[in-house]
Amino acid sequence: MEIVFWGSRGSVPVCGPEYARYGGETTCVEVRNSSGGRIILDAGTGIRRLGTLLLQEESAQADIFFTHTHWDHIMGLPFFQPLYQPGFSINLYGQPRLQGDIHKLVFKELFRPPHFPVQYSRVMSDVNYQEFQGRLEVQGFCLETISLSHPNLGQGFRISSSGRTFVFLTDNELGHFHRGRASFEEYVRFARDADLLVHDSEFTPAEYRKKKGWGHSTCMQAMELAAASRVKRLGLFHHNQDRNDEGVDLMVQQCVEEITGKQLALECFGVFQGQAVRL
Ligand SMILES: [Zn+2]
Ligand SMILES: [Zn+2]
Repeated sequence: MEIVFWGSRGSVPVCGPEYARYGGETTCVEVRNSSGGRIILDAGTGIRRLGTLLLQEESAQADIFFTHTHWDHIMGLPFFQPLYQPGFSINLYGQPRLQGDIHKLVFKELFRPPHFPVQYSRVMSDVNYQEFQGRLEVQGFCLETISLSHPNLGQGFRISSSGRTFVFLTDNELGHFHRGRASFEEYVRFARDADLLVHDSEFTPAEYRKKKGWGHSTCMQAMELAAASRVKRLGLFHHNQDRNDEGVDLMVQQCVEEITGKQLALECFGVFQGQAVRL
């Protein structure tokens, strides 16, 4: 399995020399397997470049799974070029009931003047919507979901293929009880023994004291979940828009010191835009 991170920034895209290494595009993750299968997680601004690649590769299908529909996870959709490509098939998978039909309620809203000049009728690809919660096999992957702890809800994914497992939990506040969330023990079970856990790490513990209830975790909370789940690697994700490269480095360093102190067999890194991780 190979995972490519097209965006790892949270809340709003940023740019500037201070963000050069971790990048400024918002959430979009591509997951490929050895049998040629490919799925996409979220459509933040990072999906724009991925769309260009799909057209270069002459792909004809994209399966996009949404964690939730906050702006930073959908704002790249109107700039996803395969949408305008006749014969291209785009399958959208969203959490049922809680957020409505992504196709009707969100997707078409994005293409509505005066917010965007292109009418939805200009979308020439074949767009399908499917509700998904629970377990699904698609493109050679097995996907399972868990409810996130986040305002307006959302879901995380456990993705397995050929004996490797990747768990993706972004926009997940472990330290606060949001409606519909799972318990800490359920998150531990969900991530158990994964080869890679990528988790929301928006805040430092000091920042979190003023941001409790905002829907995001600290790097230490992510590390505690990774340790309790006995995952092999932890990727810190959803970097705060005000955190420069040195700030992310510092966060990773704090986690590594804690891991070393506790003598855990856990590797920790900050997820950067353009990073490819092979499991
Ligand atoms: Zn977000
Ligand atoms: Zn969110």
